[in-house]
Amino acid sequence: MTSLGTVLITGGSRGIGAATARLAAASGYDVCFTYASQHEAAEAVAAEIRALGRQACCLQADAGAADFADTLLARLPSSLPPLVGLVNNAGITGPLGPFLQASPDTMRQVLEVNVLGLMLLTQQVVRRWREAGRGGCVVNVSSIAATLGAPGEYVHYAASKAAVESFTVGLAKELAEHGIRVNAVSPGTTLTDIHAAAGEPGRPQRVAARIPMRRPGEAHEIAEAIVWLLSERSAYVTGSVLKVAGGL
Ligand code: NAP
Repeated sequence: MTSLGTVLITGGSRGIGAATARLAAASGYDVCFTYASQHEAAEAVAAEIRALGRQACCLQADAGAADFADTLLARLPSSLPPLVGLVNNAGITGPLGPFLQASPDTMRQVLEVNVLGLMLLTQQVVRRWREAGRGGCVVNVSSIAATLGAPGEYVHYAASKAAVESFTVGLAKELAEHGIRVNAVSPGTTLTDIHAAAGEPGRPQRVAARIPMRRPGEAHEIAEAIVWLLSERSAYVTGSVLKVAGGL
């Protein structure tokens, strides 16, 4: 199959990012993705993509680092087809707990990875598209926490995702006339390692009762929405925040 172009995905080694990388490859895109530290998991996803007959590259890059966007884009292999999509997926919550227990370091790190890194990378990618006179698609991964507020769990994280949603709406309006679409997916609780990293591996089972569908989501169910928003099938959709949250 001819390539549809390259999609750049942050945090593609595990969870929702890995599911998106696999589905994008199966849909005809070549894929470059980043990871923070799990080199073996990243190589395994890249191998799966290559087995589908698509090009894959995985690059270690901390989305919270000051030079994240510049150094990442400088390392994109020139052998890949042109970049047509950016999925800003990498995200962290910090430890679960009431806001009064959230440390300044946690809040700073969450904002740097979830908001600042995302905005700086988007700015660099969009600059490239504008300079080349090309369009493209950005899909930001938010969270239903932006709507619900996540009281007692991670209010600072919910606030970071609310910033991602406002950024999506505004940037979409700025760029629509240039053929650049910007959308967000807002997942509900999804079965990934993020809950263990936050300190409660069983959180998806605990919160299932308050989800109208009474179950957490699967990473591939979130990936379906992301890849649809990347594709021509959503050509008239921009500035949307698509909830994929089991009814929340
Ligand atoms: P995950 O399973 O914890 O995977 C996180 C991915 O991001 C990994 O590939 C990880 O790389 C990478 N990553 C972590 N910190 C990074 C950093 N500082 N710089 C670069 N990459 C980094 O997470 P997930 O659950 O799939 O979450 C993906 C996105 O969905 C996040 O934005 C999250 O906020 C959002 N979300 C998740 C849920 C949920 O319930 N799972 C719900 C709503 C929204 P390594 O493998 O190298 O660590």
